[in-house]
Amino acid sequence: MSFQALGLQSQLVDTVTALGFQSPTPVQQQAIPEVLAGHDIMAGAQTGTGKTAAFGLPLLHQLLDKPASLAEVAGRNEKSDIQIRALILTPTRELAQQVYDSIASYSENTQIKLAVAYGGTSMKTQVGAIRTGADILVATPGRLLDHAHVGTVDLSKVEYFVLDEADRMLDMGFIDDIKRIMRRMKASRQTLFFSATFSKQVKKLAHDILDEPKLIEVTPSNSAAVTVEQMVYPVDKHRKRELLSYLIGSRNWQQVLVFTKTKQGSDALAKELGLDGIKAVSINGDKSQGARQRALNDFKEGKARVLVATDVAARGLDIEQLEYVINFDMPFKAEDYVHRIGRTGRAGQTGHAISLMSIDEEWALRAVEELLDTRLPQQWLEGYEPDPNIELSDNNRRGRSAEKRRAKAKSKIHKNRGGRMR
Ligand code: ADP
Ligand code: MG
Repeated sequence: MSFQALGLQSQLVDTVTALGFQSPTPVQQQAIPEVLAGHDIMAGAQTGTGKTAAFGLPLLHQLLDKPASLAEVAGRNEKSDIQIRALILTPTRELAQQVYDSIASYSENTQIKLAVAYGGTSMKTQVGAIRTGADILVATPGRLLDHAHVGTVDLSKVEYFVLDEADRMLDMGFIDDIKRIMRRMKASRQTLFFSATFSKQVKKLAHDILDEPKLIEVTPSNSAAVTVEQMVYPVDKHRKRELLSYLIGSRNWQQVLVFTKTKQGSDALAKELGLDGIKAVSINGDKSQGARQRALNDFKEGKARVLVATDVAARGLDIEQLEYVINFDMPFKAEDYVHRIGRTGRAGQTGHAISLMSIDEEWALRAVEELLDTRLPQQWLEGYEPDPNIELSDNNRRGRSAEKRRAKAKSKIHKNRGGRMR
């Protein structure tokens, strides 16, 4: 299967080939022909499966194929509003920038103009870019509404609407913003809906905004060859930081993405790792956009060895060849585990997903195992075995009884309860 065979214009095919894309990924194979045929789509695919090109390429093809009428283009100079033809919504600023960068590279040899709009940076600069004319706007919902309110952006002519990472948008509470944005668009548009998971809420949103969508489902096993070796290390909560430093140092891990539950936790952990001599940066929603981008760049360029992130801040980030993902805190929601470990094992490489689990987090592990329908291997690390005398307080006791835990601790057998997940 080639990009050519999917019906894309040759200049786009040439560009992606030059970028090193030899053949389309499964989600691209399935989505591109449906989008070119004019259908709405509802696609389920994990991170790292190539969704940006799955919607970006057919979008560019159609914009090139059906140029805006000359009258409309001419009208742009007189009108204060710039009429966007394609709108791509993403949940976070980093993702907006990433999608913008990707589509900018796919459209390099075309006349198509792009703009990006997200919070945390000056509206003025964005307005400048939008006013010089933008066919495609990539935006986060909040900042887009700010622009729409002050009249920088006119959404009434949007022909193509892409909702990227719809599940995360809902998790982040963007549902009302999305509805407000939709009210500013005409009904006759093509809508492309992407989500890694499909909860009831996500399905309802899809039902509300899609018109006879084609369903596209890509299972991780036949997607961009994701191989992740998973391991759970039970450890007492107060020793997690020490264990993390030990693992990174003794095993010489170079590029490590660490997840914490809270924003404060991510900052504190990065500082503590620094004190241990491990250069770490953090990204979370409390930081300015500049600080987040700097941290991300430092990590990508190898200036920092560890990036500590919250789920929201890390969602969808494409960091090349990431080898290690660590769950410093187990995820509160089992779905987040899937998103977290999707940051590693990209493009055929083997990745490692390691969870540091304290006794009060066993319920979270069980939720993950239920979701994946598999058992994750567990191992005690010498010197870091959990203290069998640590009891769960009653309101924390979601699982196994203290007796059973003690029996398990006494047996001192390193357990390995399952294989690797593909
Ligand atoms: P997703 O949105 O599903 O997380 P991305 O669109 O961010 O995935 O793509 C993940 C990575 O895979 C990017 O680095 C991208 O350049 C690369 N990629 C996408 N499509 C292909 C392809 N057909 N061949 C090779 N690499 C690809
Ligand atoms: Mg994506």
